[in-house]
Amino acid sequence: MNNHGVFNKKANLYILILSVLGCGLFILFGDLTFSYTSIEWTLIISLVVVNVLCKHFTILIPPKGNSLGMDTTIYLASIFIFGLEITLMILLGSIAIVALYRVTTAWWKHLFNFASYSIMIICSYFTYTLLGGETGLISFSYMHSYFFSMIVYMLLNIMTIGVFFWLISNEPLLIIFKTFLSEAIFSYLSILVLALILGILLIHQPVIGILLFTTVILMLSLAFKQHFNLYEQASKKANRDDLTGLYNHGYFKEVFIDFVKMKNSQPFSLAVIDIDDFKKYNDYFGHLQGDDLLKFFGSLLKEGCRPYNYTYARYGGEEFVILMPDTLGKQAYEFLNGLRKKMNDTYFKGVEILPQGCLSFSGGIVSHEGSVYNTSELLDQADQAMYYAKAQGKNNVHLYDEEDVVQKNLDEEKEIELLEQQVRIFLSKDVYTYKHSKRVFKYAVNFAKKLKLHEHESKVLIMGALIHDIGKLEIPRDIINKKGKLEPHEWEMMKKHVTWGKEIVSTNKELAHLLPLVELHHERYDGKGYPHGLKGEEIPKLARILCIIDSFDAMTTERPYQATKTFEEAIEELRRCAGHQFDAKYVPAFIEMIEESIYFEAAATNE
Ligand code: GH3
Ligand code: MG
Ligand code: MG
Repeated sequence: MNNHGVFNKKANLYILILSVLGCGLFILFGDLTFSYTSIEWTLIISLVVVNVLCKHFTILIPPKGNSLGMDTTIYLASIFIFGLEITLMILLGSIAIVALYRVTTAWWKHLFNFASYSIMIICSYFTYTLLGGETGLISFSYMHSYFFSMIVYMLLNIMTIGVFFWLISNEPLLIIFKTFLSEAIFSYLSILVLALILGILLIHQPVIGILLFTTVILMLSLAFKQHFNLYEQASKKANRDDLTGLYNHGYFKEVFIDFVKMKNSQPFSLAVIDIDDFKKYNDYFGHLQGDDLLKFFGSLLKEGCRPYNYTYARYGGEEFVILMPDTLGKQAYEFLNGLRKKMNDTYFKGVEILPQGCLSFSGGIVSHEGSVYNTSELLDQADQAMYYAKAQGKNNVHLYDEEDVVQKNLDEEKEIELLEQQVRIFLSKDVYTYKHSKRVFKYAVNFAKKLKLHEHESKVLIMGALIHDIGKLEIPRDIINKKGKLEPHEWEMMKKHVTWGKEIVSTNKELAHLLPLVELHHERYDGKGYPHGLKGEEIPKLARILCIIDSFDAMTTERPYQATKTFEEAIEELRRCAGHQFDAKYVPAFIEMIEESIYFEAAATNE
């Protein structure tokens, strides 16, 4: 609220009328001769003190900004016990003291407050007496009088504030009343109970009564404050990532969705950043030091974003996100690229072992202007741009562009075409391996989709699948086409195809990312595979996946040296070997995919 009383004309008029009315009623019903006995003065002053204390020690209730004032308890108790004049005197004293120590609040606000309270107290008092209530005692037979005078007090309170809100906002009056009423009714019931208790104390033991009552209120206020702080801490914690102290995934999404909803036409950029080769750092120094690096990275991000109104969060393992309001394309790019360079230049223990030789990340940005958005699509586009940056050799930033996607698809098709030409060489020598490679490639395309692999992983798996057996080119024709069982020395030669494949592929630097798949697709999860006997997660994830596909195709197609299994038998075999030969994590999804294809084929032939 502003401090100068400049709302709209209607609201100003309303304040003026209510202030005049309230003060008029006060003059009419209050005792302006101030002729009270010393006992009465003592009571009035004590209750003023308690009242001012209560204004200070309110009871906080969530959400933030809400509180339950105890002054109404005192006014109601005073109406029931002492009647109107003394209650109005307590009001006058309290407001005067509050106005003295809250000098920064505009005078007309104190006046308006005083007037509204006067109206509420006076009307509440007359309701009480009209319904038969007698001052000076608390009795069961006046229960309805207590209740309705509280109701009148509450309704007037809601009306005076509600009308004011209605005049300064565009919300319908009825909705404002309804909201206020539903929030107020329970509080007022507890206020009434407390007022009755205070009333009884005032009658029987005024001094001790007021003391005890004040103590209870102060204790309640402190207890609620603590409770409220705990509530605030808990809700804060739920929004934070434990390790870095930054906002977490869930909270960022909430903020992002709210931002898009509330500031529908405000332009913005969204960045996704992923630390480069973090797994290497983790593997080399252990998870604890890896955690330290993440914390450090988080603090650099915080520092970098500090001068701006950006919201940033830890989005997942070593991925972070930044929402940049009012920042578009080039500007967002420059910010993120600057942050990247700064991180490159900031040393953290051990970063020299990383391929980039320093702390680095790859970042993707999507910029948006206009009003139709789909938040998950934007996140996805920023993610795609980030993977594009990774594919460019990491440690760089890329701005999302629709054309990239088209260009990338064209590039990918071209690359696959080139690999396919290499595999075609098999046609003259070993048709089986040619056909096998093509089938494994097709399975890989579908399995990558089924596993929802990230784009770059999916591309590596698919290309690796196509070229994984390229080393078999080196195996003599008589061995590769031999019908019947292979001799042990022939087996040894057969196994060498993975090493030869690696040698062939490493002649082309651009295919370096396919090397693990070519070399390691015969490693087994239980460590009994070749060429190195790697075990479990030592084998790269994509090689573990390719091993399942490759074995399934080998089982189900005719080979010179092995009996053929039906799909059902091969599925059974995969299940049997899950956890030994194969990584059990990927077997169920693969089986599901095969079963779906069997089902579709059966459905198609039945049509
Ligand atoms: P790239 O450059 O392609 O992003 O490679 P990368 O190694 O950074 O990415 P990858 O996704 O292969 O590995 C991410 C690693 O992050 C794997 C996981 O063990 C590690 N990680 C995820 N969350 C935490 C964490 O809270 N603490 C630690 N220490 N490591 C984590
Ligand atoms: Mg990652
Ligand atoms: Mg990474």
